Amino acid sequence: MPNIAIVGSGPAGFYAAEAAIKRFGDAVRIDMIDRLPTPFGLIRAGVAPDHQSIKAVSRRYDATASGGQLRYVGGVTLGTDVGIGELLEAYDAVVLATGAPHDRSLGIPGEDLPGVIGSAAFVGWYNGHPDHAGLNPPLDAGAVCVIGNGNVAIDCARVLAKTRAELADSDIAGHALDALAGSAVRSVHLVGRRGPHQVSFTPKELGELGELERATPLVDGADFPPPEADAALEPGLRKVLAHLRGFAARGPDAGKPVRIGFDFFSRPVAVLGEGRAEGLQVERTRVDADGVATGTGELRVIPCGMVIPCIGYRTGPVPDVPFDARGGKFMNRDGRIADRLWCTGWARRGPSGTIGTNRTDAFAVVEAMAAETGEGRPGGAMLDTILAARGVRASGYDGWRRIDAAEVARARPGAPREKFVTLDAMAAAMGG
Ligand SMILES: Cc1cc2nc3c(=O)[nH]c(=O)nc-3n(C[C@H](O)[C@H](O)[C@H](O)COP(=O)(O)OP(=O)(O)OC[C@H]3O[C@@H](n4cnc5c(N)ncnc54)[C@H](O)[C@@H]3O)c2cc1C
Repeated sequence: MPNIAIVGSGPAGFYAAEAAIKRFGDAVRIDMIDRLPTPFGLIRAGVAPDHQSIKAVSRRYDATASGGQLRYVGGVTLGTDVGIGELLEAYDAVVLATGAPHDRSLGIPGEDLPGVIGSAAFVGWYNGHPDHAGLNPPLDAGAVCVIGNGNVAIDCARVLAKTRAELADSDIAGHALDALAGSAVRSVHLVGRRGPHQVSFTPKELGELGELERATPLVDGADFPPPEADAALEPGLRKVLAHLRGFAARGPDAGKPVRIGFDFFSRPVAVLGEGRAEGLQVERTRVDADGVATGTGELRVIPCGMVIPCIGYRTGPVPDVPFDARGGKFMNRDGRIADRLWCTGWARRGPSGTIGTNRTDAFAVVEAMAAETGEGRPGGAMLDTILAARGVRASGYDGWRRIDAAEVARARPGAPREKFVTLDAMAAAMGG
């Protein structure tokens, strides 16, 4: 039976493991390598903390990890602790499921000013990812511009707008809950280049913005085409339009102090400010029948002390693995990068689709891989020798179980867990 290495323990990695167990049988040996001692990738560190039902998909991954074919190798980074050549030496096949953890840049002047915080960092901060736990976003800002018209932008806006009580039963990191409770933010602008017909929101997520305790959506009725134009949209987008039109017709709730404004037809041109973000300059656009936006030359500034671009992500390159810099993902054909080297999930196709898309993707990649995979390489024993020689101490799934139990035990009342947000605290919870 083959020895397989899967790098990355997010949805793509776990679905690839599930597919490999189904395809190769119980005798397959899988080492799942992740840079963190905590598995599940963006299920833990991306999906919104107040969407616990979505995070529950990790129970399925837990079942995959518990079947006896998979060994978790946590705290090991591909490219730093071990090289791709070494993994290919050790394993019959290697699958890269490393996601797309880096923010795409806006490419406009001022984007490096303090106060401009990519969504990977902002979301990682409130979700307690160790890379971003120390972020300290400027919540003294009265207004925030969230750039993008997809669900990640909605997540950021909603978390900024919710009250402490509304977040109390989520697994938001304690530091974020405390900081947000003292936030001065009263205005969140969702800035989109195009119009209501071009948004990528889903109806449920958008609808939630109309049900918040202290925040109210603000949509300008003048931004819509005539209502009959909605008939040509696909059903999901029609529901989205119904919400947006409902928000516009209702007008903002005067009793609620926080506004979530939809700034359509606004292309970001520059972040302005002396020493920190103080405003986002945008150009009014016009959108043609094909959905293409062009600038009209009409400029305005939205005053704000924080800018959160939610405009997509890039995979991190790995030495000696062909990389498509333009697409921000590994170069591959249907998941195949090179002989015995494969990729799946966001690292293969870029940051699109739902969690379930990664399942379809992983099963297809493992099916293609099965036709080419031989057996006979040493597998985990060789990896262990390499890591030991470098003094790298990997953690196992039992270590994650100890972290999990300790997080659940120290949860604030009503919350599912209180996350450890540093590698040291995770190591302590694992017992050293
Ligand atoms: C803010 C946000 C909210 C989302 N909400 C939803 C939602 O509500 N519903 C939904 O269906 N989808 C949602 N998604 C999309 C969903 O999270 C992704 O489809 C999915 O996580 C992609 O899976 P992946 O395994 O490819 O990547 P990831 O989940 O990112 O997993 C990658 C893993 O690889 C590890 N890794 C990276 N580099 C290395 C390395 N060099 N060495 C070792 N390990 C490495 C990482 O630590 C991580 O564990 C959301 C995404 C974001 C960003």
